[in-house]
Amino acid sequence: MTARVLVVDDLEPNVKLLEAKLRAEYFDVLGALSGEEAVQKASSEQPDIILLDVMMPGMDGFEACRRIKADPETTHIPIVMVTALDQQADRVAGLEAGADDFLTKPVEDLALFARVRSLTRLKMMTDELRARYATGKGLGVVETIDVDKAAKESRIFLIDDNEEQIERLQRALGEEYAVAHETDPEVALGRARSGDFDLIVVNMSLEAMDPLRLCSSIRSFDETRLTPILAVVRQGDTRKLVRALDIGVNDYLTRPVDKNELIARVSTQLRRKHYVDQLRSSFQASLEMAVTDQLTGLYNRRYLASHLTAMFDRAYWTGRPLAVMILDIDHFKKINDAHGHDVGDKVIQEFAERISRSVRGIDLACRYGGEEFLIAMPDTDASFAAVVAERLRQEIATVKFVVNSARDELDVTASIGIASTENGPEDDTAQKLIKRADEALYEAKSAGRNRVINRAA
Ligand code: GH3
Ligand code: MG
Ligand code: MG
Repeated sequence: MTARVLVVDDLEPNVKLLEAKLRAEYFDVLGALSGEEAVQKASSEQPDIILLDVMMPGMDGFEACRRIKADPETTHIPIVMVTALDQQADRVAGLEAGADDFLTKPVEDLALFARVRSLTRLKMMTDELRARYATGKGLGVVETIDVDKAAKESRIFLIDDNEEQIERLQRALGEEYAVAHETDPEVALGRARSGDFDLIVVNMSLEAMDPLRLCSSIRSFDETRLTPILAVVRQGDTRKLVRALDIGVNDYLTRPVDKNELIARVSTQLRRKHYVDQLRSSFQASLEMAVTDQLTGLYNRRYLASHLTAMFDRAYWTGRPLAVMILDIDHFKKINDAHGHDVGDKVIQEFAERISRSVRGIDLACRYGGEEFLIAMPDTDASFAAVVAERLRQEIATVKFVVNSARDELDVTASIGIASTENGPEDDTAQKLIKRADEALYEAKSAGRNRVINRAA
């Protein structure tokens, strides 16, 4: 994994030193000698991570951090503050400015590489989601992300066998968040999986189980794979900390835990989690939009095209029949002409609902064209498809369509063509199957409409 790292320090030798260390680990390194230059390069160079000195003349590290995090073009770039003194107050100020992590000078190599690697990993995932989000937003199908609102309703789970520490953490976090805790690590694993927590805090000095194993289990379960983990480590336990970060622990605090730093780190993790959650769910929504017809909620033609081939292949390999029916509303133009386009839309919607009600879970129903629908039915032969089609035809023809707030009751009929794969020749394809159903539909129309025609092979 190679990443571009922007190193910012007003003293050139400091930049050179970090540069040399990172280059040796095959990172790409850029340098900046002031806060102003850092802000400008963050935007123009789009690095994957920024190591930012706190004390600089002119714009200091806190201010540079605030500006980088405030710009939508650079807000997603992780920032590690590099402080000369291990000052609690500096850490909190940095976290409040939006920094993602801290290192203290002189920078320890192991800690440096672990932080850079874990933040880079995180950024790669976020970048992918951001790209998808941008596509969704471009298509106008995605809502704007509101991270703060979501973060307020967060649930936090403490795994700790130290009652005193639990109490302290609970007191600090209880006001803002719903906090649960567990002292037995085995029980905690089960609760973590079923609890739907937004953040898990693990005491890395647990006695009953190796805390590293506990964290890696949390990482490996499907339900908690993406849940952020905050580790509480003993001061100076760098080795364990580095292992923890490599396993996928997101952030850490050293004991004794400072209340303000705790709150700041928890809120950073929660904001990031909700940001990623929303990116992911908006991507899900845009995927659904891409395959769904807006008027009816059925699958659209694009989805059918990609999915029917797979259904056809499965039918071929398993030797099971696959039936396709195409339904077309009769004289639909007249409905539009007599009642208006809006009523026409309502008829299409009601028609789609009736189709949905009459198909099975494994069937694929889609809007094939304006007032034309296609249903693909796996494991179904032509004669069974004909029974389904006839029942549907009758229901459409006999039960009036009530639209326009019940002011209009319309008689609607449809013609249906059926084709299936049974006993078909070797060179049959999904396209040919559709074509046969289409021909059957055409026959139904010519024969007077409101009927089902079956083209078995
Ligand atoms: P036939 O019995 O031969 O199928 O006659 P038809 O009038 O139903 O068929 P034709 O294909 O000639 O006309 C279909 C009409 O459906 C034309 C088009 O304006 C209308 N239409 C297509 N999509 C929509 C839609 O989304 N909403 C509405 N209201 N009308 C639509
Ligand atoms: Mg029609
Ligand atoms: Mg038509």
